[in-house]
Parts: sequence; structure tokens; C-alpha cells
Amino acid sequence: MTAAPLPLVACDLDRTLIFSGKALALAAPEHQAKSLNVVEMYEGAPQSYMTVASERLITAIKASSTFVPATTRTVAQYSRVQLPGPPSEFAITTNGGVILHRGKTDAHWHGHMAARVKRESKPLAEVEAFLGRADFAPWVLRLRRAEDLFVYAIIDRLAMPEEFVAELEAFCTAAGWTVSIQGRKLYCIPVPINKATALAEVRRRTNADYVIAAGDSLLDQDMLHGATAAFRPRHGELNVTDYRAPHLRITKHAGALAGEEILAGINALLDSKHSGAVVEPQK
Ligand SMILES: [Mg+2]
Repeated sequence: MTAAPLPLVACDLDRTLIFSGKALALAAPEHQAKSLNVVEMYEGAPQSYMTVASERLITAIKASSTFVPATTRTVAQYSRVQLPGPPSEFAITTNGGVILHRGKTDAHWHGHMAARVKRESKPLAEVEAFLGRADFAPWVLRLRRAEDLFVYAIIDRLAMPEEFVAELEAFCTAAGWTVSIQGRKLYCIPVPINKATALAEVRRRTNADYVIAAGDSLLDQDMLHGATAAFRPRHGELNVTDYRAPHLRITKHAGALAGEEILAGINALLDSKHSGAVVEPQK
């Protein structure tokens, strides 16, 4: 008899498990400094952090599950993130456009996704041309391609009018694309490229029957929806839209402490599952 497959734990990274200095939002008094570890360096400076307690928890989670980072970062951006514990067998990057298996891009999946995008969504160049309009330049500060799969912009959020967001959403919906705005970044992504579809593929390959997911943005919602148990922090896009579901737990804290709370919650679920206790999350 083969052993039962390990539970699958899929976690968004930015603003779910790891935090930039600005996103940490540590509300503790100044005499109660929180111990943080640097998990990403960029151009010689610390870029992202997680709490020391989070690092301990993630190591424990990795020991009792198939832990899958699920990020909108490109492969290069993901490669900068140094999570504790052994490397994950699977990682989802580029919002699901790429599955990394043992650190290598799965060419079959990449080709499959590129073909679906070609069939189901308008070309990237059309969305890029729309975002590049001269009248949007005051708030669309820089435009970038992510591995030729989607586009993102660095925005001046205060200068960006609501009417622009509505116009962009209407344009993208008609083109088979989705929009997500997170901090200073605006993402436009073809509908077929999403974390939930990539996670379903990882689930198929691992035969997992129990899936835990965590995330903070609209780009995570489908992944949370399809999981057995899900977590989201009390901040981010899903908090603004007030996403709720019977199987979803919302943290008490916001910021980096929410990341720690999510990992503690996942660890407790895995512990209760391994000990055979009731594993359904509370509302
Ligand atoms: Mg996020």
C-alpha cells in the first residue's frame, strides 16, 4: 500500500508571508521590537522580511506537507526570495504562467498556458498599448512585461483617478484579461493565467486530496475558493472587497503579524490532521 499523499499548502508570498519595510505595518510599541529576518535582498539592500517566528513555523509546515509558494512574481523575482527549510519541489510563479519543478521551468505547462492565452485572450501588445496611452502617463509611471505573459505597471496611486480604473477594467474584461492593484503595482493578466489553474495541476501531479491556501489579493481569490481550508490576512485587496467564505479564516492582525498568524493556523491544521482530530477550520 502506498502512503497517503501529503497535504498541499499553497501560499502567496508578498503581503501574505513576506513583507517589504512599508508593508510590515508593525503596530507594537517601540520598546517591543519584533525580531525579523531578511528573506530577500535587492541591489545590496534588504527588500523583504518575515518574523523569526514565521521562519520557525514555515520550517515545520514544510516537514509535514507539500509546501508550494504561489506568487505573481516572475521566476527571476521569485528566485531572490530565500525561504527557510528545504527548497520546494513545486513552485507557482508568474501568477500561474510558470510551474517550477525542482527549480526548473516546466516547459510543458508553459507551452500549454501560452497556447490557451493565444486562444482565449487578446494579445499582450494591445493591453500594453492601452496602458501606454499618453494621457495615463501621470500615474502609469513604468510599464513592464512579465516573461511575455502579462504586464504590470508601477503607479502613482494618489494621482490615479477612479475613472481610469473603471475604464481599464472594462477594457481588460472585454479583452479576456483581469486587473489587480496592489500597493504601487497594477497588474493586467490574461484570464487563463491564474494561480488556481496551476495549483490544480500541482494537485493532480501530487494526488493531494487536502489543500490549504493563503493569499491577500484578488489574484489569490480563486485559489482560496478552491481549497479545502483557506486563510487571508486582514489587509490587502481581499480585505477591501471583504471576501468571505465558510472555509476561510481571516486573521486578527494586519501586516507581518498576519503572516505569522496564517502560518500558525496552517501549522495547527496540519497537526490536527496528522493526529486524526477534526480538521475543519472554524469560521
Ligand atoms: Mg500578495
